[in-house]
Amino acid sequence: MERRKLYGLLAACLVLCTTGGYIVGERSGAARGAVDGYESGYTEGTNAGYDAGKKDGYTEGRAAAGSDYESGYQKGTEEGYQQGYEEGQKAGNAEGYATGEAAGYKQGYQIGYEEGAGIGYDNGYKDGNGVGYDNGYKDGSGVGYDNGYKAGTGVGYDNGYKAGQRAAPTPSTSTATPSAPPVSAPTTSTPPDSVPATSTPSVSVASTVSENPAPSPASVRTVYVTKTGKRYHYDNHCNGGTYYEATLAEAEARGLTPCQKCVG
Ligand SMILES: [Zn+2]
Repeated sequence: MERRKLYGLLAACLVLCTTGGYIVGERSGAARGAVDGYESGYTEGTNAGYDAGKKDGYTEGRAAAGSDYESGYQKGTEEGYQQGYEEGQKAGNAEGYATGEAAGYKQGYQIGYEEGAGIGYDNGYKDGNGVGYDNGYKDGSGVGYDNGYKAGTGVGYDNGYKAGQRAAPTPSTSTATPSAPPVSAPTTSTPPDSVPATSTPSVSVASTVSENPAPSPASVRTVYVTKTGKRYHYDNHCNGGTYYEATLAEAEARGLTPCQKCVG
């Protein structure tokens, strides 16, 4: 009996215990299963969400990057163009300036050279002309004076000779013809003839001598002239000018008029 009871108790206990363990086990198993399921679901969901999010994010990011790229490209192009334009312009200006400067210099040099050469030629010509004129004038004046002097001397001599010859015949014929035949009365005949004979030539000689030298001292008088001036001077320091000697006749031949200051 006791055994049965024990067995029964045991059995009951076993049942109870089993039931209780089952319950406990069931409960803990369910809890555990829930946790596991949650975790694995969570993990999977997370992974799937991550992937989807990553894909979408990538797509969207790429799209956004595309428009950024576009605008960045445009801006970069504009800036690059601007910079390149400015630098190109600067370089072009510098080169253009250098080329223009060289060309301008060449042309300016050419023009300046030609003008300088022209002025130099003109000045040289004027000076040379002036000096040549002065030298020629001096030489011509000297030679002219000498020639005039010689010619004047020759003519004067000839004139004097002729005049002297003309005056001479009267006494020579009277002495030639009457001297030979009359010997008795030469003393009375010769004195009256010789007195008028000597008086006539002396007048004619005096008149010819006074005619020739009278104009020559006035025209041969030295005056002072300049290369280009319209006046002749007596004072070679008049107005502090540079003067050249000339005769009054030469000055008048050139159409020069007397200086009001020193000639009057
Ligand atoms: Zn003067």
